[in-house]
Amino acid sequence: MVPEKVNVAGIEYSVKNVKGLSNNHDKMGVVRYGTAEIELDADMSQERKEQVFVHEMLHACFFEAGYTEQDEDAINRVSAILYQVLKDNAICFGKKVVYTDCGDKINICN
Ligand SMILES: [Zn+2]
Repeated sequence: MVPEKVNVAGIEYSVKNVKGLSNNHDKMGVVRYGTAEIELDADMSQERKEQVFVHEMLHACFFEAGYTEQDEDAINRVSAILYQVLKDNAICFGKKVVYTDCGDKINICN
């Protein structure tokens, strides 16, 4: 599942599904640092969308770390492995707090 937002070094990137992104720009995903947005082609399969999300998120991590010039091949290789490791091990460090109708607090990993 792709989150709606991801915080990278204190910057909240919003994640948007964009129709026709790959048709119009020949890209499955785009990260916009200035507006803190990650755009994903809306018509991709769920797994492809997740994989592309990790790729764009990794770009954001490098950018926020000060790497304004990035090696696309390295991002491609590392993001593919990172996606597999996160997914196959169901790694989640964050907790989302939700409240039931009764007011009970529940922590869920999403
Ligand atoms: Zn890239």
